[in-house]
Amino acid sequence: MEMRAALLYAPRDMRVETCEVAPCGEHDIIINLKKACLCPTDIKKYEAAKPDVEGALKQYGPCILGHEAAGVVVETGSAVTAVKVGDRVAVQPMIYCGTCRHCQEGHTNLCPEVIGVGCSAGGFGDCEKLFVEQGIGGCFATHLKVPEICAMKLPDSLSMEAGSLLEPLADVVHSVDHAQVGPEDDVAVLGLGPMGLLHVIAAKYNGAKSVTVVDLDEKRLEIARRLGADHTINSGKTDPVVQMKALTDGVGANKVFVVPGGPAQAILTAQAMDMVAKGGTVSLFSSSPTGADDFTVSINRIHYSMINFTGTVGFGTAHAEKAIEMLASGCFDYTLIRNKELPLSQINEAVALYGKGDNLKIGLDLEA
Ligand SMILES: [Zn+2]
Ligand SMILES: [Zn+2]
Repeated sequence: MEMRAALLYAPRDMRVETCEVAPCGEHDIIINLKKACLCPTDIKKYEAAKPDVEGALKQYGPCILGHEAAGVVVETGSAVTAVKVGDRVAVQPMIYCGTCRHCQEGHTNLCPEVIGVGCSAGGFGDCEKLFVEQGIGGCFATHLKVPEICAMKLPDSLSMEAGSLLEPLADVVHSVDHAQVGPEDDVAVLGLGPMGLLHVIAAKYNGAKSVTVVDLDEKRLEIARRLGADHTINSGKTDPVVQMKALTDGVGANKVFVVPGGPAQAILTAQAMDMVAKGGTVSLFSSSPTGADDFTVSINRIHYSMINFTGTVGFGTAHAEKAIEMLASGCFDYTLIRNKELPLSQINEAVALYGKGDNLKIGLDLEA
């Protein structure tokens, strides 16, 4: 079986080529992927912003990025029971060991052995090895061979475009559910990239009393409003901490999410600690770029105000099932977030456009 795939040869050198799909092992499936999305994780690898990437590419040869996608199962191994040929599925990208303490307790996202489809988690070299030795690559391709644990069945009513948003939405459901957002909560979401906007939807879905969003970009604040945000704060025009307190009778927000990584993360985290209510939760959603891990936390703020300071990574089956339920319910217009799509053949253009202008989640049509 042949496929078309975007092969990353070296930093910023990605070429769409035809290559062989690896044979399907007894616990594996092959998915004919239809739609995908780009993620900042892919951009970081494309730019080799992490030092291990370039070395691994030299050692093992090209890899295939991408971990957000949906498609149709076209082949199953003899021992596969979870799905059958013809099933519509989204990719669950975490390949975990299943036997360690975290896996046994159902926290497969914390498995120390985890390797992510499309080099999305674990060591980059380990992901490359998986591709070279077993042909398990990434989603920027027409076909993907993966273990059956990597398939989440989609209802017939769900489009492939919506299915390609399952992975990011499941991450956000985990974030919002871990902070136990419910009807009592005044929620604040700091940073309105695609993941910040998904936080608005997930918080509203959980019945949050109010959701306030903070960003510098008026257009993104407006999209958040259309997705259900109750209040918007333009942090370029007004002090978000003062504003948040004013909106909550001086108490602050109970649940505060710091969504982006990158240079803004430390500043936003400090703001979050200042605007969170006593007894409230500050949760960090994104990883920090290498070398920017340090952040000074006020011990007394945590102690006297009983602040829960936490974060989340990845997701579990229950979060994915809830994400599918949300997508299938039509509770939000996903085209406000996945607001551009390019063909696989133009993947380099898609990467260049990521995060620029009005583009939010950039989708890929893998059949074009
Ligand atoms: Zn992602
Ligand atoms: Zn494990």
